[in-house]
Amino acid sequence: MNQDVNAGSCDICLATLNLTEQMSAHALHQCLTDIMKNYFHAIHVSFYHVHHLVKKKSSEDAWRLHADEAQYHEVQSLLKSKSLKECLSYQNIAEEQQEKKIRYHVPIPLVKGALGVLVFDISKALNAYQHDKLEKLTHLFRNCDAHLTAFHHDVLTGLANRMALNEAMKRQLLKHQKKYRRQGEVEDFSSVCMLDIDFFKRVNDNFGHLYGDEVLLLFSRLMRECFRDEDQLFRYGGEEFIVILHCFNDDETLMVLNRFREKVEAYDFPQVGKVTVSVGFSRFKAGVLPSEVLEYADKALYFAKDHGRNQVASYQALLEAGHLVQKSSDHQAEIF
Ligand code: GH3
Ligand code: MG
Ligand code: MG
Repeated sequence: MNQDVNAGSCDICLATLNLTEQMSAHALHQCLTDIMKNYFHAIHVSFYHVHHLVKKKSSEDAWRLHADEAQYHEVQSLLKSKSLKECLSYQNIAEEQQEKKIRYHVPIPLVKGALGVLVFDISKALNAYQHDKLEKLTHLFRNCDAHLTAFHHDVLTGLANRMALNEAMKRQLLKHQKKYRRQGEVEDFSSVCMLDIDFFKRVNDNFGHLYGDEVLLLFSRLMRECFRDEDQLFRYGGEEFIVILHCFNDDETLMVLNRFREKVEAYDFPQVGKVTVSVGFSRFKAGVLPSEVLEYADKALYFAKDHGRNQVASYQALLEAGHLVQKSSDHQAEIF
């Protein structure tokens, strides 16, 4: 009996050790899900990020749930659950008896006031010992998530960094390929947009590094204000930023990026005054590597820089117009 317990705790020890080895938020969520399935015998486990929507006068609290693989109808039915509302309002573990199973909603407070919720079904209610284990497990998960968040974010601007970009690009392409396989010749207009502040070196030279840093910080704030929640924002390095933008077509992408460009142009940066930005973007395409999409966006950016700066250029449009050619052998493009 004792041996069984020890063997069990050793297994869960290894499983939790596994949690500390994950290098992306996505892998960390997956690992927590696997632990719940393997050691708590939970079925149908999901982890969601929770967005608390601003409450209008006299209306109830409202939330939006976000998960990498969430199906729309699953989220909609979850949001109707009283137990989930209780869990999110009071940040307590809330359980709900369902036909032949019990559904648990476990709130997980994350860094910077963010909130996650773990939802799982189980055939028998958890006993006190399992409850305790679950609390310790979610505590460990929070710590891992906090370390990963710090690892994946830029200190100056608070935006996701290059490390996070690599993960996001891989996931985006995978998502695109799945969709492509499911639906055949479906066009996807998610784009990688590379933003580079024009003549930024002059800002440092004329006003000093501290003012340069402030421009970067304010620029990142303008990005947050201008793009939507579902668009992913990154500091690529120095005065270069990336947006993974989800639009319906190239015209919309162009419109959104030009709106941002104009916003930057109109903004009065303290002491420094006017700053402009050039942007190059390329659409994701099935079978194209993350490094290639980035390279295409970079080619378009280079074109924008070379043709007067303070403008937005589309890689695909430049190809179609004959301003760039793609060498079929190595996917490289040349500028004319
Ligand atoms: P272009 O329009 O061609 O992009 O010109 P640029 O001057 O913006 O580009 P360049 O690559 O010549 O200079 C980029 C400058 O960005 C040089 C570097 O010192 C500065 N820089 C990079 N990272 C930081 C940072 O974190 N803070 C500050 N203040 N400056 C930075
Ligand atoms: Mg640059
Ligand atoms: Mg620059």
